[in-house]
Amino acid sequence: MAGRRPHAVLLPLPGQGHINPMLQVAKLLHSRGFYVTFVHTRSSHRSILRSSGGPDALAGLEDFGYEVIPDGVAVPPTSRSSSKKKQQVSKGCVAYAASCSAPLREILARRGGGGGGPPGVTCVVYNWLMSFALDVAEELGIPALAFCTMSACGFLGSYFLEELIHKGYAPLKDEKYLTNGYLDTTIDWIPGMRGIRLRDLSSFIRTTDADDFFLETEATCTKKCDRAQGLILNTFDRLEAEVTEAIGAIFPKVYTLGPLPALLQANHAATDSPSVSTRFNYWEQERGCTEWLDAQSPGSVIYVSFGSLTTLTAEVLDEFAWGLADSGRPFLWVVRPDMVAGGGGNARPSVEDFVRRTCGGRGFVAGWCMQEEVLAHPSVGGFLTHGGWNSTLESVCAGVPVICWPGFAEQHTNCRYACEEWGVGVELGREVRREDVSRLVKELMGGEGGERLRKNAAKWKEEAQSAADVGGSSFDNLERLAKDLSSGKF
Ligand code: UDP
Repeated sequence: MAGRRPHAVLLPLPGQGHINPMLQVAKLLHSRGFYVTFVHTRSSHRSILRSSGGPDALAGLEDFGYEVIPDGVAVPPTSRSSSKKKQQVSKGCVAYAASCSAPLREILARRGGGGGGPPGVTCVVYNWLMSFALDVAEELGIPALAFCTMSACGFLGSYFLEELIHKGYAPLKDEKYLTNGYLDTTIDWIPGMRGIRLRDLSSFIRTTDADDFFLETEATCTKKCDRAQGLILNTFDRLEAEVTEAIGAIFPKVYTLGPLPALLQANHAATDSPSVSTRFNYWEQERGCTEWLDAQSPGSVIYVSFGSLTTLTAEVLDEFAWGLADSGRPFLWVVRPDMVAGGGGNARPSVEDFVRRTCGGRGFVAGWCMQEEVLAHPSVGGFLTHGGWNSTLESVCAGVPVICWPGFAEQHTNCRYACEEWGVGVELGREVRREDVSRLVKELMGGEGGERLRKNAAKWKEEAQSAADVGGSSFDNLERLAKDLSSGKF
């Protein structure tokens, strides 16, 4: 294969938290001389093209092409119901296999070299939940690497879900097991995860359904990575040292490339590759946030956002609103148009009205913001987050301590690591009470505990940058990945 230009085909799972990291990997490979074909579903492609100033700019790059496959299921990404949306993501994985295997096979064959078209496909990089791509690649004899967009600790926990099921830990015997202390059971046989408890593992174990779709999909797709030629993770070695070591003992080829946004910057400087946006957004970003932040004191603002999928009940929204109001601290709160469960309509106007009446200019409500810019703003001193992996890593990069309110998938694992291992966070209990919100916000933004977390966060910020810089672990892993993929030697 040496001497021929390598051609990588990348396949993300549709969703805000999955497409951007995959675009970042695509851009990194492109800068390393790869011809890139980015394959995504019809509705994601439409969203990307709509996304102003977004990565449609990538389409202008020479030797960067898009291909579109059908949607796995018909629910659009901005659907009101989050649980429906989550079902969509998971059910989609099966639907994708049924509806997208043939189109992917056709793309791989068509873009397979010959004539004046792109060079032959040398590798497939797929989101680990789109595991049908591995079957197709194997069939065609093309090396395939799984890209897992969650944390390494989340991945490792999920890798052992099959064993947890086999040993009878999950699904739960009955609903009582959710509250009777059972979730505090320590699991001492997962390598690299000292002291991990059932409650810290994927939320998908919290089911009594033996055929639970999430549990089965997550367990199967994660385990199926065994068959991939390599595993790409958006983390850096120092942050998850024991975990990445344990993963390295299972998988011969692991490439930790995180934090991807920082690696992109370092790589851009080192390779002089064109600078184009690799971010797209399902929602319009509000620019008023920056002006409001500019007017606040340094480190004074708590930024509040629960990512792109989490929904709240009207009651929980109310507790958060009163908690933030009672904290007395300035806050910037993202209230997505679809954030309140139960189809109650866009909650933002009523939240804005509450904030105006109760807090005056001390609070600012946005529908969606440029999160990385917000976290990097000098006025921001804390982040109340659902603990999605992108948000967690973005807070690490910005050196901002967190209050974690985990609920779904591996968010509990991220929370455990943020609070116990990295010392950058505190947990807010699942049952949200205004007094807890206000107490934790006050402590994080002004207390001694908050100061300790801030110091740790500053340290991790430096570590993140070092990993991404030339000579850092993630930078070196990128070089190794590009070399391995070009040579096809696995
Ligand atoms: N995000 C954003 N603006 C917002 C809220 C979130 O750009 O107002 C981005 C955030 O920067 C992150 C992503 O949305 O990259 C959310 O991903 P994460 O993995 O944290 O959570 P998910 O949405 O998958 O639950």
